[in-house]
Amino acid sequence: MAIKYDLVIVGAGPAGLMAGKVAAENGLRVVILERKTNICSVRRFDGGVCAINEYTFGQLALFNERGKRISFPVGGFSVRYDGPYTNVFGFHLYSPGGKRLCFGDWKKLRNDPAKNRVAIALNKEILLQRMLEDCLAMGAEVLPNVNVTAVKTGNNRVTVTGNGEEYEAPFVIAADGANSRVARLVGFNKEREFFATSRHIGYEVEGMDYDELNGFIIALTQHGFYSILPCYKEGVHHVGHLTHDYSVDLHATMQWFIRESPVFSSWFQKARVCETGLTGCVVNVYRALADPFKDNVILVSDATWIQEVSIPIAICFGWKVANAVTMALHDGKINREGVQSYLEWYDKNFYQQYGGRKMVAIELQKFLTNEALDYLVEMPGKVFPQTMDFHYLFHMLGEIYGGEGMLRISEERPDIMEKLIEARAQMAEAAEERRKKGFPGRQ
Ligand SMILES: Cc1cc2nc3c(=O)[nH]c(=O)nc-3n(C[C@H](O)[C@H](O)[C@H](O)COP(=O)(O)OP(=O)(O)OC[C@H]3O[C@@H](n4cnc5c(N)ncnc54)[C@H](O)[C@@H]3O)c2cc1C
Repeated sequence: MAIKYDLVIVGAGPAGLMAGKVAAENGLRVVILERKTNICSVRRFDGGVCAINEYTFGQLALFNERGKRISFPVGGFSVRYDGPYTNVFGFHLYSPGGKRLCFGDWKKLRNDPAKNRVAIALNKEILLQRMLEDCLAMGAEVLPNVNVTAVKTGNNRVTVTGNGEEYEAPFVIAADGANSRVARLVGFNKEREFFATSRHIGYEVEGMDYDELNGFIIALTQHGFYSILPCYKEGVHHVGHLTHDYSVDLHATMQWFIRESPVFSSWFQKARVCETGLTGCVVNVYRALADPFKDNVILVSDATWIQEVSIPIAICFGWKVANAVTMALHDGKINREGVQSYLEWYDKNFYQQYGGRKMVAIELQKFLTNEALDYLVEMPGKVFPQTMDFHYLFHMLGEIYGGEGMLRISEERPDIMEKLIEARAQMAEAAEERRKKGFPGRQ
């Protein structure tokens, strides 16, 4: 016999925990099923950089350090965060030769951090711990060690099975992350375009020696992109690398970056890789879902998006969907119409804006020499406003290198323009190559 609830949530990440807290606060009998033993442990690589002070997807997160809360004024709610943090001031993109394109003058911005920061690097485990405590305080049941492996739908009920036990409710929220098994089981991925499988590796590194490490650094090298992010611990950074190629030995390419890369290795000469800070993850990247509702199963956050929405946006998903389900149950509309407020919110703020986006498969380092990349990164010759919004960053890169930028490159460096045209022409082929190399059996 299935155990009956008003709402079953699969996954206790930021989206699932927020949904659980809000649903329980609204008086629903709710259970969260989580496959991890320790719900708040962060096993996979996550920078813990929480974007604040900027609108993203129509949402806004602010950090109130006196009240120790991250607040969301668009939605009108907040979550507790009383852990350590460091300030983050934007993106700096580096070429192989160490030239850079800056979004934010970090040396200036760090003089007034509360005003100028665009993110804080936080301890995600503490954030999840506080969210879990609030969930439990509201009366939600949170069950660790439950790996959901089956979903049955029909007659306005959904039954999920995890570790031999059945849980049933009028609605199920799938907050089980980027490789959502619920999405697969219910058939959401059948018509969803698959782009690639990405493998990430992350090292926590202490004692890097470079003056400008107060933001998200993206370093372009002959082995692809590396990221360097501040960690919540002063003097510690997350160094990350990603590939779509299964034959790449990520530890070897990380060692190359830290020990041998011509420019960046000098930043690591006095640094130490923290034994406990090694993380990784594998993500199957699909196109965002146009319709995250099927047979009363509702997908949220990373489960419905292309790869990842971010921590603050995941929290907004949890808040929005739980309120929508509460109203559906109150109004006796156990169907799509009942949760229309969530579906419209998703469509307006997410799908209509960015849903059609594809994953770009362009590996500039395969077409351009290091000298050419240095030229391109140095070309704009000015500092752009700080941001932590990837969509805005890509938009700005389009502005910088499109239109007049393109004319300038054609005039100054026709040899580089020729290579860029060649790279662009091969994008479709490169995308197909990535797709083929993706994890088999992903459907
Ligand atoms: C490499 C990498 C780095 C990132 N760095 C940042 C960053 O610095 N800042 C930022 O804001 N965002 C970052 N993100 C994105 C961020 O981690 C996610 O957007 C956010 O955690 C999504 O929250 P979620 O609740 O939707 O999913 P998740 O956080 O993925 O949580 C899903 C939960 O569901 C559980 N689960 C999965 N399958 C099952 C199952 N079958 N049964 C039961 N439970 C299940 C999982 O164990 C997990 O606890 C990063 C993502 C990646 C891949």
